[in-house]
Amino acid sequence: MLKHPVGIDNRGDMKFFQRKSISGVLWKDKKIVTAISTIHDHSRFEVQRLVQIDGQFDKADIPCPKIIVDYTKYMGGVDKADQYIQYYCFNQKTQKWYKRVFFKFLEILKYNAYRLFLLSPNHQTVGNSPAMTYLQFSRQIASSLIDEYCGIGTRGRQSAAPVPSRLTERHMPNIVGKKSWCHVCWMKVSAGKQDKRKQTMYGCLECGKHLCLPECFTAYHTMAKYC
Ligand SMILES: [Zn+2]
Ligand SMILES: [Zn+2]
Repeated sequence: MLKHPVGIDNRGDMKFFQRKSISGVLWKDKKIVTAISTIHDHSRFEVQRLVQIDGQFDKADIPCPKIIVDYTKYMGGVDKADQYIQYYCFNQKTQKWYKRVFFKFLEILKYNAYRLFLLSPNHQTVGNSPAMTYLQFSRQIASSLIDEYCGIGTRGRQSAAPVPSRLTERHMPNIVGKKSWCHVCWMKVSAGKQDKRKQTMYGCLECGKHLCLPECFTAYHTMAKYC
């Protein structure tokens, strides 16, 4: 933020900056507020504030940029997303600033994907709770990304296809959380090899997968191609 922006002295004063489709604004409310947007122009609205006129407090209309009006209107959603992203964001203190920006965007993408996932008719809520918590969703993404690279390291000649850890480690069935779709059933139905998907609260904590017992759990931990 600029320390002494020129021309932003009184409540309601504002200054816009524009670069291609990105507009930024400085606006003086009680303090100076800054905002940046890719969907706003320089339109102004008015907001009501309590101001002191001749020693009397009275309501007055103060000019306000539309960016700020919209932010205030929708900040509930923005702040909720920030909160979720904060929960499982890994430590980024030592990274360069541009890496922090990159990973922050990655986290925002993941959160947006989670919101879409919850809206999808294929992943309906179970009772009042979501089909999958944000933590379970994050773990599934992580394990799907690294699954094929988690084979035990071999000395000498590397085998062509690394063995996934689900086939080599000792994993036990467990309660993994609220009921959700069994991963194996889901993949089989998607591949057209099964008619119905089942929901279960059981599965594997290490793999972060819901799996029905015993068939799907066994198949997932013994077969390279389980669907
Ligand atoms: Zn299953
Ligand atoms: Zn497992």
